[in-house]
Amino acid sequence: MKGVKVYCHAGRNGCVQLRKSQIFKVHVGVYRADQAGLDGDGGPWVSICEDHGAVCNHATLKVVLEQAPWLNWCEVCQGSQ
Ligand SMILES: [Zn+2]
Repeated sequence: MKGVKVYCHAGRNGCVQLRKSQIFKVHVGVYRADQAGLDGDGGPWVSICEDHGAVCNHATLKVVLEQAPWLNWCEVCQGSQ
């Protein structure tokens, strides 16, 4: 696809970033939904709690990168606090 950045990180298609949350000590992945084969109905950018499998869609890359470390969408992480 011309003009569209292709994301691949840590050998994962569509992966923008894979990092460890300093807050919850779990791995958080940020993906572009269409390139990663994920459901993009809720937003083209997806953050995943890699440890618990919780998935959240976001509208923009800026938002997903801001939200990723906080894991607001993962009930297991939120419950551990
Ligand atoms: Zn979690």
